[in-house]
Amino acid sequence: MLTQALFWLERGVPLVPLQPGSKHIVPGFGPYQKQITAPDDARRWFEERWCNLGLACGRGLVVLDFDLWFDYEHWREQYPGAAHTYTERTSRGYHVFFAGDGASGDVGPIEVKGRGSVVMVAPSRHPLGKTYRAVDERAVILPVPGRFSLLSEKLSSSSAPSLSKESVNRTDLIGRIKAAVPVLELARASTEMRSRDGRWWHGKCPLHDDKTPSFWVDAERGTWGCWTCKVRGDVINLYARLNRLTVRAAIAALAAGL
Ligand SMILES: [Zn+2]
Repeated sequence: MLTQALFWLERGVPLVPLQPGSKHIVPGFGPYQKQITAPDDARRWFEERWCNLGLACGRGLVVLDFDLWFDYEHWREQYPGAAHTYTERTSRGYHVFFAGDGASGDVGPIEVKGRGSVVMVAPSRHPLGKTYRAVDERAVILPVPGRFSLLSEKLSSSSAPSLSKESVNRTDLIGRIKAAVPVLELARASTEMRSRDGRWWHGKCPLHDDKTPSFWVDAERGTWGCWTCKVRGDVINLYARLNRLTVRAAIAALAAGL
């Protein structure tokens, strides 16, 4: 933990100690309160007291927080260049790090963590037991890309941010696909599914050679997963996996049927 704390201090990012095994900020510290900027203080909190490591965002660091990994995959296909930046795996999603200044706010499914936000980073331990880790430890932190309309519009003005027309249409399209193609229907086209309560369905996984039913669908939320494949997602990436397509190609194929 201390190594990572010093890594961020060297890059000028102030630290915020979080209670061990949790995301709660240690009282007295915070985005607008006390922060750690000296190595000796870092040693006290992150080595001697086993605190989780938090970073104060906004001045020098902006983090895109994707709660769900499939939202990250959609984004990465749209912005492959920017996606090379330093990224960490969280409990269910990803944190994508950029060097720059900016405000906090939501852009579609992405929570932009800028001024006033604290982000928990590797190798902190999530309350549910999972440890945050870097996707690629050697990746560098890229500057907030200028051409990156989705982000730069949000970050460059404090006036009401507007999404680019393309991304609004895209978000709308994904919503329409999800409404039109129930994930259960797609699953039942490839495997036999059973349910006791009408919400949770189980069957043999169509993505691997399954002996016992390890594939599930939550019909209410429109999500699916497989315990063995260790994947989960929505109707779009199930369609992509079943047909060996990229997420982008799956969206195009499903949109053609609307
Ligand atoms: Zn599977």
